[in-house]
Amino acid sequence: MEHGKQIYEGKAKILYETSNPDELLVYYKDDATAGNGAKKGTIVDKGIMNNKMTAFFFDLLAKNGIKHHYISMPSDREMIVQKLQIVPLEVIVRNVAAGSLAKRLGLEEGVPMKRTVLEFCYKNDELGDPMLNRYHILAMDIATESELDEIARISFEVNDILTKFLKDRGVDLIDFKLEFGRNSKGEIILADEISPDNCRFWDSKTKEKLDKDRFRRDLGGVEDAYKEMLHRLTGE
Ligand code: 5GP
Repeated sequence: MEHGKQIYEGKAKILYETSNPDELLVYYKDDATAGNGAKKGTIVDKGIMNNKMTAFFFDLLAKNGIKHHYISMPSDREMIVQKLQIVPLEVIVRNVAAGSLAKRLGLEEGVPMKRTVLEFCYKNDELGDPMLNRYHILAMDIATESELDEIARISFEVNDILTKFLKDRGVDLIDFKLEFGRNSKGEIILADEISPDNCRFWDSKTKEKLDKDRFRRDLGGVEDAYKEMLHRLTGE
């Protein structure tokens, strides 16, 4: 689709202006990075698959009353989104110990948490996205108390909706990362993407990883894992 000026290029996506000042165009790349850019590669057609999976998940969430930034998908690699003022937080929801949590706390990967864990990281590549708690967030004026409550409420609700939906498709939702923004009315709106790049998906029976950990950990079968997830969601 024709687009305006590029306003940002991230590790996996490019953001462009559109003719509508309230909307942006997101272009999903095939580039893959891990370890805050330490490892770089390409996952063939990842941009297409992540765009489609994100659109699918946002539609599912909207049907369940969650407000998000996704508007439309003009092409396989592009989505139109609502322009938001992004809150510089990575909001991580965890149902099962894995990844950095397992490492940090000496937990075995795959052990279910007694209750869902919510973590906040400061979205700052130079600092390596350090973990923050509520006090840091309020002290640094990153979000207000009521915004944080709203972010937590939406995050737990997204977890409930996705966990139930994926269970029926034979997938365990281990953990995932969300990002939020503020619209012109100051409302907190779900932003960014929902895909194997920012979620851990394990096959319920075999516990096989169907997400970016296959790339991060050199497990092979990376493209096939993304394809399998797209198939389980959309039948494609
Ligand atoms: P961990 O902290 O264990 O590395 O990641 C927890 C969850 O959040 C995983 O599902 C992972 O994909 C996601 N996540 C954490 N940090 C990032 C990040 O900087 N970028 C992306 N795309 N996902 C992240």
